[in-house]
Amino acid sequence: MDYFIYKNGVLHAEGVAVPEIAASVGTPFYLYSTATFERHFTVFDEALNGLDHKIFFAMKANGNMAVLRLLAAMGAGMDVVSGGEYAKARAAGVAGDMIVFSGVGKTVDEMRQVLAGGIRQFNVESEPELRQLSRVATEMGKTAPVTLRVNPDVDARTHAKIATGKSENKFGIPMSKAREAYKKAARLPGIEVVGIDVHIGSQLTDLEPFRQAFTRVAALTGALRADGHTIRRLDLGGGLGIPYARSNEAPPLPMDYGQVIRETVGHLGCEIEIEPGRLIAGNAGILVSKVIYLKHGEGRDFLIIDAAMNDLIRPAMYDAHHDIVPVQEPPAGTALAPVDIVGPVCESGDTFSKQRPLPPLKSGDLVAFRSAGAYGAVMASEYNARPLIPEVLVKGDQFAVVRARPTYEDMISRDTLPAWMES
Ligand SMILES: *Cc1c(COP(=O)(O)O)cnc(C)c1O
Repeated sequence: MDYFIYKNGVLHAEGVAVPEIAASVGTPFYLYSTATFERHFTVFDEALNGLDHKIFFAMKANGNMAVLRLLAAMGAGMDVVSGGEYAKARAAGVAGDMIVFSGVGKTVDEMRQVLAGGIRQFNVESEPELRQLSRVATEMGKTAPVTLRVNPDVDARTHAKIATGKSENKFGIPMSKAREAYKKAARLPGIEVVGIDVHIGSQLTDLEPFRQAFTRVAALTGALRADGHTIRRLDLGGGLGIPYARSNEAPPLPMDYGQVIRETVGHLGCEIEIEPGRLIAGNAGILVSKVIYLKHGEGRDFLIIDAAMNDLIRPAMYDAHHDIVPVQEPPAGTALAPVDIVGPVCESGDTFSKQRPLPPLKSGDLVAFRSAGAYGAVMASEYNARPLIPEVLVKGDQFAVVRARPTYEDMISRDTLPAWMES
């Protein structure tokens, strides 16, 4: 559920008409709804009612400082995957003990930064990383709280680029090697084992892979406790999918996901940590764009819009579907005709959708991509020297630019000329 709805035939974000924002900030832009973020966080939190749990927002899904602030104010911790994300989380006011650090390639500099600043736990993904962390922590006179990320070898049944829980993926330590790895961890100085971590992929639309993975984690918990380890936290990762095509997708509800957690690991007396990204942010944002031209090709029509693959890469990268709707609601009964929706970038991959049935649209009309709040702005680039597009946050009847569009001058001044060139 979200708060992007038509009122009097015009798409609104909460209480603000989208064309009003477009007139003020220019297109294209990302538009986020405070009430939707809050609702998703609350729904997730309630789904875990009765469990000792904490929610860590996977901020790689949406790293805007205003978004981090609003989630932190609701009690969210952060799941970070780089020193940069850690710095942003801290700048957003998140305490170190509410941050977990994930990722396969943590560097020595990042380990130092995070140990100095304070951290709840490192989710360690390999033995070399574990040894490196032990060296860094010992050198600093610190103890690093650690979970080991295990790879449960389950098929998440999602897009190959976002499946992470099969043995062929680069993530985690194989289940078969987990007990040995924990034994080594227990002997290493500067390391304190606190639990187990697992994350099997993103945009999962089926609960069964979660059930399989969590069941394997429960069995491992028993085995590790029998080996004498203290397992008091289970980090179950993120990954719950959202409906991108509203007409025909109904991914599992957070309530049912919560029930799977209760049934598989609820009896272990562990603190449950989860790291949702997409579920919190995905449907809390839209991308607003303007039609530049309608071009009649040979046997097909192209709707050329001012947003492109550099602004929203998901269709090009993951073959992802986004519902695309006109900002002016067409009258009931308007005939739809198929169009290819494309951006101005010089690549055929800059295609958002092929043969999508849409009502008639003309130059200057606004369209909105739904479900663009996660893995949207964070993955944008300035390819084709197209400035990063602004981000706008709505709350009730107010809106604010929470990241401004850079000027051409900003873009140009980021590059510097070597001394041997004449300026
Ligand atoms: C990407 C990621 C998440 C968040 O995944 P979503 O599908 O956005 O919920 C959580 N944990 C880890 C380790 C991740 O890499």
